[in-house]
Amino acid sequence: MANLCELCFRDALELAYQPESSTRGLTVHVCQHCGLVQSLPRIDRATRAPAAVSGGADWGNVRYGKGFRTQAAIAALKRHANLESALKVLDVGSNRGSFARTFLDLAPNAELTAVEPDERVAAYSAGLERTRLIESRIEDAVLGNEAYDVVHSCHTAEHLGDPLMVFADHWRVLKPGGILLVDVPNIALLDSDDILEEWFIDKHLYHFSARTLMRMVAAAGFETICPPDATDRENLLLVARKSGVAHRAVEGDQREVDEAERLIATYVSTRARNLMALTAAAAEISSYAPRKVAMWGAGRLFDSLVTHGGFQPAGLSLLIDKHLKAHMTTRHGAPLAGPEALRDTSPDVLVVMSRGFSSEIVSEAKTLAPHAEIILYGDLLKRARKAQAA
Ligand SMILES: [Zn+2]
Repeated sequence: MANLCELCFRDALELAYQPESSTRGLTVHVCQHCGLVQSLPRIDRATRAPAAVSGGADWGNVRYGKGFRTQAAIAALKRHANLESALKVLDVGSNRGSFARTFLDLAPNAELTAVEPDERVAAYSAGLERTRLIESRIEDAVLGNEAYDVVHSCHTAEHLGDPLMVFADHWRVLKPGGILLVDVPNIALLDSDDILEEWFIDKHLYHFSARTLMRMVAAAGFETICPPDATDRENLLLVARKSGVAHRAVEGDQREVDEAERLIATYVSTRARNLMALTAAAAEISSYAPRKVAMWGAGRLFDSLVTHGGFQPAGLSLLIDKHLKAHMTTRHGAPLAGPEALRDTSPDVLVVMSRGFSSEIVSEAKTLAPHAEIILYGDLLKRARKAQAA
């Protein structure tokens, strides 16, 4: 049987891309009618693999990014709900409870239901005050009709086999006029000049744009009251209100189809060019010797530098990663350290292998290693691409 588009239900999915090192054999398709980008097959009940951090599609078992979205969600919620009132909130994919804790602190009369299928991370929310923890997938959670004022769904919809059905269920459990807060990765990131890691990872089945996300929540019966911030290329954070009408996505959208195909083609060529430049980037880092070199960031960019650029981590005096350190002790043979190790090592050069958090890292590094010359990944890549073009 053909896979129908999740948004417009047409038999119009066309293969657009095959991700690097997918362990599930996923392929990426663009709906030729509405433009929603989706991965097939829709296997969303995979067995859990041990923690892996790679630049390829098999990445994704170490989840530490969601906590960084808490402040944005709270700020959006403050604009649309009264935090002093006795709010009933459903937190979908509550993860380690970052949103739950922050929200409960700010909303003294609120009650929260946290749904999290992964018992390893759900444990972080056990025993939270005014919280009912449901350890299950959202599709399996038993929730009453019109029971909630707010549904918060952060980086969950892109993982689901049937997100439209789940949004429709959020509609059912919300009181009339209730608020839906959705946050998902933004496919607009594919336009980035410095993209290096495989964006279409195995854990993501849907790849939304602002347009396709808004159409999907509309199809579930919501009215968008605050569209995603057009300047944020990494995330789509949307606020919608439960309304009486579901707008099924029957209209085609050729512009959206063209844009999705353009984004994927741009991504493929930019990423190939950047991966090829990594050999020159690795050579530049090696040329810093005999100065003492430390690197901050051992995640996906670092993995790409090693696997595609042939970088040898053994030459580093120090490899730092605040978040990964909680999950593993070494990366590609090099021991992982916390930022505080910078004080003892006092490197001459610090290479920052991060895109989203480089400014935070730089300001922390300046106090811990004031004498180190700081090299940013983005600049390193620019020089490497220039060297390669010459
Ligand atoms: Zn479609």
